[in-house]
Amino acid sequence: MTLQELLKSNSLFDSHSHFSEIEADKSQLIKDAIANNVMYIVDVAVDLKNAKQIFDNSRLFPEQVLPTAGIHPELLIPGSDLYKKGLNILGLEKQLQELRKFILDNKITIVGECGLDYFWLGKSGLPPKVQEQIKEIQQYLFEQQVKIAADNSLAMTIHSRAAEDDVLEILEPYIDELGPVVLHSFTGDYESAANALEMELYLGINGIITYKSADTLRKDFKKLLRGKGIKTPKDLYKEHFMLETDAPLLIPRNINFKVRENSPSLIKYIWEFVYNLINEI
Ligand SMILES: [Zn+2]
Repeated sequence: MTLQELLKSNSLFDSHSHFSEIEADKSQLIKDAIANNVMYIVDVAVDLKNAKQIFDNSRLFPEQVLPTAGIHPELLIPGSDLYKKGLNILGLEKQLQELRKFILDNKITIVGECGLDYFWLGKSGLPPKVQEQIKEIQQYLFEQQVKIAADNSLAMTIHSRAAEDDVLEILEPYIDELGPVVLHSFTGDYESAANALEMELYLGINGIITYKSADTLRKDFKKLLRGKGIKTPKDLYKEHFMLETDAPLLIPRNINFKVRENSPSLIKYIWEFVYNLINEI
């Protein structure tokens, strides 16, 4: 199964989860997902080591789990859990080469998660000059991964926080050579959303849409999707939106039972929420 095929189907699927990071038993999670009509799970990698784990894990569930491979921008942000101290350009180059080889050798069809994060960088407390340098390295790391995807017509799952303009600018020259590209967990403004859709990118909707604080996001999505006759998941994909959990984090708030961690079966509730939001009178 590929992302292209899933987007033409009417299946619910989790387009961005860190499935391998969920603590609960994986076989049970898959059973729960299927029981809730969530038929596929994209398990998203944040670095090379994680990509290898995810790939091995995906082979246990080849009918349900789609593995990705990519290098997350937070690798370059001090204070982030993903931060790799002492990484230099030479080290990055080596990782990018390894990533390309890993993707080709194992026929990985989705590159990511990669992208730009200016939000956490801004909170790092680093001097502005150092922040600028890190931005440039993030841009390099991202563009090299876009190239890997473009060279092989692969899909991408992209992390963009407070960096929508630069993400779109880097993607632009490659867009015709890429498979489906999703700006996962989209939280940008209306203009960025409209620009991304204009470029035929996809926007990822997750539990954030159910949060009290997400009023603007709800208004923007409603404006983009109302009157489009969206009654089924397939209708939503046609408008270039995807559903995701970003599990184990971001538990949707429209559930009336207690869960300790987010998981793919909860896509059902995100879809319900989106459906009601778009179709409410
Ligand atoms: Zn993620």
